Amino acid sequence: MIIGVPKEIKNNENRVGITPGGAHALVKNGHKVLIEKSAGQGSGINDDEYASVGAKIYNSNIDIYNDSDIIVKVKEPLESEYELFKESQTLFTYLHLAPNPALTQALLKKRITGIAYETVQLSNGSLPLLAPMSEVAGRMSVQVGANLLLKYSGGLGVLLGGVPGVPQAEVVIIGGGTVGTNAAKMAVGLGARVTIMDINRNRLSYLDDMFGGRLTTLIYNEYNAAEMVKKADLLIGAVLVVGEKAPKIVSEEMVKAMKKGSVIVDVAIDQGGSIETIDRVTTHDNPSYEKYGVIHYSVANMPGAVPRTSTYALTGATLPYLLAIADKGAEGAMLSDKGIMLGLNTYKGFITNKPVADSLNLEY
Ligand code: NAD
Repeated sequence: MIIGVPKEIKNNENRVGITPGGAHALVKNGHKVLIEKSAGQGSGINDDEYASVGAKIYNSNIDIYNDSDIIVKVKEPLESEYELFKESQTLFTYLHLAPNPALTQALLKKRITGIAYETVQLSNGSLPLLAPMSEVAGRMSVQVGANLLLKYSGGLGVLLGGVPGVPQAEVVIIGGGTVGTNAAKMAVGLGARVTIMDINRNRLSYLDDMFGGRLTTLIYNEYNAAEMVKKADLLIGAVLVVGEKAPKIVSEEMVKAMKKGSVIVDVAIDQGGSIETIDRVTTHDNPSYEKYGVIHYSVANMPGAVPRTSTYALTGATLPYLLAIADKGAEGAMLSDKGIMLGLNTYKGFITNKPVADSLNLEY
């Protein structure tokens, strides 16, 4: 198989779809790997490192798309890439189709076999290819939130951990999955007072055991959310219903009741956002805006800011799946691994993931 890795073109996206180690493993298995010139630069990987393991360096993404059976990326293709897809090509990347009808139509039109990292799922319900980036984004959400709370960023001017004699800041995390747990680790580590909410009682029970009383767990319902959101200095949105648009778990009224200068980091923005007042996707260049006196942060590719960590974490997780797809072909890999089958979002002009189809009001 020929595997092509174009350079990412999303704003400040410095990750790349494969590391030299990943390219080496593919070449060793008899595949050809094409890397767009300087694709790894933002992650500190130069072209020579890829070339030294047998990958070919290409000058343009047009040729990469044209010559490859499988395209491996990090983020969803942007509009300028839609016309580059080759009929019936396999695309292996984060797709986040639920809030993106234009990309969905482009994939259907070109009959792309679209396997989305975020819906590859193990039998225990876990998401092995979303998890590493959720770990990064969860940890980053607290770093970003702490910075936005600084006075010169327009924030309240509080230190998350407080100091002796002065209370800590209140961090409220809604969604206790991978993002929420990693956000909680950082916030607890910095000494903040942390409450984590979820609709899943078993998850809260696990978190309660894991943190041994160093945070408060609270079942999510509208009433509890309203009570906690108005106390929050930093609110983190971390919910997910696999494949679907994010549920709105914080209403406009709840945001209006927040303190002026408090901060919302909506990590779930890549699935359309979980906070009613998050009305746009922001970028690393201009990451936040103010509404009702509250700072809103809604960057959809948070791990792109720490590419040296994220690229290696991502390839570590995706490589076994990519090797299977390259060795057996997409169909063979899906037939032998139900988890990869669950990753399939588009195939031969059809949507093959029900939550995605439902979110877009399209036929499944
Ligand atoms: P996860 O499945 O591990 O956890 C989601 C949690 O949300 C689950 O525990 C679930 O019970 C809970 N939940 C679902 N509906 C809820 C509701 N109505 N109220 C309260 N809790 C609810 O998912 P994750 O890996 O933690 O990812 C969370 C989100 O972060 C996803 O949308 C993911 O795509 C996104 N993400 C964004 C970035 C970024 O750069 N912005 C990076 C990585 C992940």
